[in-house]
Amino acid sequence: MEQLAAKLSERFGGARAFFCNSGAESVEAALKWARKATGRSEFVALDGSFHGRTFGALSVTGQPAKRAAFEPLVPGAKFGLEHVGPETAAILLEPVQGEGGVHPLPAGMLAHARALANEHGALLILDEVQTGVGRTGEFFAWQREGVQPDAVTLAKGLANGLPIGALLVADSAPEGFEPGDHASTFGGNPVACAAACAVVDAIDEDLLAHVRRVSKIFADGLGETRGAGLLLAVDIDRPAQEVVEAALANGLVIGSAGPTTLRLTPPLTITEEEADLGIDRLRETLRS
Ligand code: PLP
Repeated sequence: MEQLAAKLSERFGGARAFFCNSGAESVEAALKWARKATGRSEFVALDGSFHGRTFGALSVTGQPAKRAAFEPLVPGAKFGLEHVGPETAAILLEPVQGEGGVHPLPAGMLAHARALANEHGALLILDEVQTGVGRTGEFFAWQREGVQPDAVTLAKGLANGLPIGALLVADSAPEGFEPGDHASTFGGNPVACAAACAVVDAIDEDLLAHVRRVSKIFADGLGETRGAGLLLAVDIDRPAQEVVEAALANGLVIGSAGPTTLRLTPPLTITEEEADLGIDRLRETLRS
């Protein structure tokens, strides 16, 4: 756990780490930390966002259909940066909205959120559960725009399939948690941490350059794509689920992100030949 914390701190540019077992848990930790660190109660997230399915994470998820059956949720969540004010503990953003349909934040929005957070004394937390650990062609997606957050959540790819989540808090950000405030029995266990250490070691500049190169192969081969690195989406003119199933029958594993949107999240280690093969198979599937 200490080795992993040190590796992640180095990648972040100086951060403390709390380890848990999933993305939703990392968001819960972030929300509790932000309230404790600021003494404020409100969170500002975005419409269309997705932060997980536990009560806190669901409360800041900007998709009413996912929340409706479980209300009342944790109070204090608002959607839209226009709500940032003196009671805002934290602004919570995904650099690329993943579950919401693979929508990168509009240009300049991250910098705007940073400026708003500074102006109002709020924290800026980036949910990099989906975009982190090399997925967008940088270790953290915020490095693409050079906007430093106060905290980052990670999970999904961090231990390459073993359950782990992490909250990283910048050394420059307020302390917040004291012993006893937050904990997890299995969080930071040696097996998950050993796997995550191996993953972090594997994500070097060569692999990140490879991700950016293969991303371009997909974008050139498929035409209208959006996203970043190897988190890509293609809008199609028919139900995505049909195409996902037809592609699978054709030996190609893809996902959907909305009724008529395909989501492509290949392994970061996919070769250029495999990417070409995947593009051919997807084109074939879309033609039939
Ligand atoms: N945050 C983001 C941005 C996600 O994409 C997800 C899962 O898709 C989560 C949080 C929740 O992660 P988990 O499913 O590990 O709880």
